[in-house]
Amino acid sequence: MALARSVCPYDCPDACGLLVEVEDGRAVRVRGDPDHPYSRGTLCPKMNGYDRTVHSPDRLLHPLVRAGKKGEGRFRRASWDEAIALVAGRFREVAARDGAEAILPYSYAGSMGLVQRNAGMPFFHRLGASRLERTICTPAQDAGWKAVMGATPGPGPDVAVDSDLVVLWGINAVATNLHFVQRVKEARRRGAQVLLVETYANDTARVADRTLLVRPGSDGALALGIVHVLAREGLADEAFLAAETVGWHDLRARALAEASPAAASAVTGLPPAEIEGLARTLAAARAPFIRMGGGPSRHANGAMNVRSVVALAAVLGAFGRKGGGCFTATHSSQAFDLSPLVREDLLPRPARTVNMNQLGRALGELSGPPVRAMYVWCSNPAAVAPDQNAVLRGLAREDLFLAVHERFMTDTARFADVVLPATTSLEHADLYRSYGQYTVQRVAPVLAPLGEAKPNWEVFRLLAAAMGFEEPLFRMSADEVIDLLLAQPSPWRGPGFAARLAEGRAVELAQPAGPRWRTPSGKIELSNPAEPEPLPRILPTYADEGGPPLRLVTAPALHTLNSTFMERPELRERNGGMTLQLSPADAAARGLAEGQRVVAWNALGEVDFVLRVTDRVPPGVAVAEGVWWIAHAPGARNVNALTSQRLTDRGNGSTFYDNRIDVRAQQRGARAAPATPRG
Ligand code: SF4
Repeated sequence: MALARSVCPYDCPDACGLLVEVEDGRAVRVRGDPDHPYSRGTLCPKMNGYDRTVHSPDRLLHPLVRAGKKGEGRFRRASWDEAIALVAGRFREVAARDGAEAILPYSYAGSMGLVQRNAGMPFFHRLGASRLERTICTPAQDAGWKAVMGATPGPGPDVAVDSDLVVLWGINAVATNLHFVQRVKEARRRGAQVLLVETYANDTARVADRTLLVRPGSDGALALGIVHVLAREGLADEAFLAAETVGWHDLRARALAEASPAAASAVTGLPPAEIEGLARTLAAARAPFIRMGGGPSRHANGAMNVRSVVALAAVLGAFGRKGGGCFTATHSSQAFDLSPLVREDLLPRPARTVNMNQLGRALGELSGPPVRAMYVWCSNPAAVAPDQNAVLRGLAREDLFLAVHERFMTDTARFADVVLPATTSLEHADLYRSYGQYTVQRVAPVLAPLGEAKPNWEVFRLLAAAMGFEEPLFRMSADEVIDLLLAQPSPWRGPGFAARLAEGRAVELAQPAGPRWRTPSGKIELSNPAEPEPLPRILPTYADEGGPPLRLVTAPALHTLNSTFMERPELRERNGGMTLQLSPADAAARGLAEGQRVVAWNALGEVDFVLRVTDRVPPGVAVAEGVWWIAHAPGARNVNALTSQRLTDRGNGSTFYDNRIDVRAQQRGARAAPATPRG
């Protein structure tokens, strides 16, 4: 048996180190690497069974060409030569007839590896295709942080261990940031209090001393309400504010005028006395540490929510104390210059940008030119993109040529004209960085590719050759590209970095020397004249505009990660099926009972769920955990048939948490929604 080091490739802040046991060319066991400085030998339940994903009987092992109607899922086997010639031929045809902008690349973070994730960038830039604005996750969170902190990197997550008050704000960390929970538990062992600010009492409530439930998207109002109390009662850290921030005078005036506990209560649903009590608890802490998740940013006012919470941390003086601070992400993207891989310079002319959250609109409405061809890798937009009915209508277009590079027959792959089999992370080389901690790891393939599967980078090399692209980059191996990236100068690499990386071990980035606060003013910017709103303020959500009575929260599931891992039956089962959670009051008001089949609906669509009635969810809120593949849903749609294509205030991000629905009983004998959408 051989033992090899690798890293978890998925879109999770932990980027855990793996040890893979290999026997006869198969991964027989995947466990945590005890030498990994952050994950320290433990993995989440999802990755403990990664060998079941890698060797799943459902892996795609050969190229396929469509043999039935769009979306029907009937294919014939093809050779790689035929498949590549077909894709390149259609791209050439479309570019000649409609212009290269009629071709749309679509990808996100199915792999976090810098090479495989970005593999298509130089190819599509060289082609002159439409550009994809990759903002499905938390660009509004980044925008909110940046408005206050500029390019200041987030503190390391280990800082929280020394905190005496950890606030988990809008994060189900037990599901999405498990190794940070270990730090929280350590802080608690040392005497820290742990608070959870959330929209429902998710699994993380079990590790918190107290959970405060707020209305979805009201996080900014709560933060400013707390700032009001701190200002009114002389509890702000005036010494820190005077030395390290700009704009306190104006923010103080704004909070005092517009964010009284009564005003914040009207938005958040928390009683005024509770907001006052929370402010006093925060002010009394020696070193409060706020860990913000992505939820508060996925609203119409998402960036402002994050900005207001980060500003609150500064008003508390948290950034100035050992164990204190606010963490949204590490921002270690600054440590790598990806330009030699991404190659923006290859664009023959400026190309239009398509926002990935508006794929339905792009496929259905875009003209000048319409999208005629699409290539998908590292993503499953039929399941994950909002406004699913619009997306499926677009994917079902007979005149749309779709190529999908995938490991499994996902909802998106079923609509493809050509399906290309992809390797898993154990079958290709890559370089990984984390957005939740500061390690970097270079990994070599642990296994030979299964069947005829190929890595993303390899497929784009083949496509580039078929298109006649002659740039030397397209002849480089993935390892040579990694070498190229590592050859770019970076102040983030300390002594021994390269040697440790070459051993396949995780290496921690060194915080580069420089100013403490990387903002234009050199201070934390509570007021920022470069922002459309120079000061944090209470902004409404889309749901505040009215509509059906329930606010829909599309939360993460415990045993899957967005639509990833849904290929594993045992994980789907552990998730407990595709359920909608309602409060007892809302269920009773509709005559609905636990376990009943229900239909959730709004103007965008209808989705079948199994109902869970629980007091974890407050009245007025409905919670759907996980992004189920349509193929495994009780009806023919998942929760994204209820989410809209509207964008956040800053960053053009998704607004998955900012939709309204109502729920009714499913009629006995009612048919599921059609597989190919109406209209
Ligand atoms: S999904 Fe996250 S917690 Fe689980 S193994 Fe991967 S990086 Fe670690």
